[in-house]
Amino acid sequence: MMTAVLTADVCVAPLAQVSGSDLRVPLVQGGDCTYVNFDYAASAPALAQVTDRIGALLPTYSSVHRGAGYASRVSTECYEKARDSVARFVGACDDQVVVFTRNTTDSLNLLANCVPGSTVVLDIEHHANLLPWKDSRVVRAADTLAETVRLLVAELCSKPTALLAVTGASNVTGEVLPIAALAEVAHRCGARILVDAAQLAPHRRIDVEEWGVDYLAFSGHKLYAPFGAGVLVGRRDWLDAAEPYLAGGGAVRNVTVESTQWAPAPARHEAGTPNVLGAAALAAACDALSELDFGTVAEHEAALTGRLLDGLGSVDGLEFLRLWTDAPDTVGIVTFTIDGFEPGEIAAYLSAEHGIGVRDGRFCAHPLLGRLGRPDGAVRVSVGLGSCSEDVDRLVDAVRTLVAGGR
Ligand code: PLP
Repeated sequence: MMTAVLTADVCVAPLAQVSGSDLRVPLVQGGDCTYVNFDYAASAPALAQVTDRIGALLPTYSSVHRGAGYASRVSTECYEKARDSVARFVGACDDQVVVFTRNTTDSLNLLANCVPGSTVVLDIEHHANLLPWKDSRVVRAADTLAETVRLLVAELCSKPTALLAVTGASNVTGEVLPIAALAEVAHRCGARILVDAAQLAPHRRIDVEEWGVDYLAFSGHKLYAPFGAGVLVGRRDWLDAAEPYLAGGGAVRNVTVESTQWAPAPARHEAGTPNVLGAAALAAACDALSELDFGTVAEHEAALTGRLLDGLGSVDGLEFLRLWTDAPDTVGIVTFTIDGFEPGEIAAYLSAEHGIGVRDGRFCAHPLLGRLGRPDGAVRVSVGLGSCSEDVDRLVDAVRTLVAGGR
């Protein structure tokens, strides 16, 4: 098994072990090479601690809750403890519950069904944090973060607003938003705040209580766990007041033919047989990442993205996508276009000729790509715990070769 860790020049010590095989990919012109994954922002490979936890559960898992058998009791304990791991990881307060969902999209749709009023959002959001809100007002982001925050405040205070729904970090540019300041503003205007932490959670320490965040959503598959589980962490009252948008077994206290008495959250919003392995995997990732020093993670990413920006910055016709000139922080995402090359063509070339996986397209953020002047899309390179500087150099060399006409 290959253990991908940080290389000596950018890291103090291995941050975490990313598990996976030493995957060799065939190249179009013959030969093969080790695959380089620069698509962490889409889904991150599982941590070794995650695969270990899942491996230990596989022989004994069963349906949770009310089963008297050993396997059911072990699974129930594991499922309920998984909530504690998530709560610890995000610094949840006592009145916040952890609801297991399928992913961030599911969490946001669930909350949208519970919001007792209108929602304010920015036009930079991933579709998952744009489309679910039923009664929403969309604020157009300005060229600076400071002005964007001012516009948000003006909109929040202009009409009664139940919720400000904002991303923690952009999935297109990686720029990080000032969550604690936005929470303060939202509360001052009588609104609550939801943070879409799909891109933030794998890269930065989260402290819901310290920041004053009311609701937070993220996905296991971006947090070094496999697919199928996400979470919504949030204040209980709205969750307990709303009818669940998914009805069925497990979500109720009592049912007669005439009436249904729903259970309180989290069960109320977890109808159907829960994804025990998914929750356990997500919790294992939370436990592993809780032990990391996120300052070192940020340094590691900054070193790699700095190297990417330096290396790609001198390529003819290459332009980076950035929203704001004053964003104080970015997570490990570098997105660009190259004059004369389609994004899909660049991504296909990097994969077929160099065994490098990047993402091209509009990243489920069509309004943002449009306003950045790239309605046809761009190429996104995203790094994580298993990325290293040799891989960055390989990508930069490959892009230079492409542009120099060496296709
Ligand atoms: N929000 C952001 C910022 C994202 O980057 C993504 C996925 O890329 C999502 C939400 C949706 O996540 P999921 O597809 O896991 O529901």
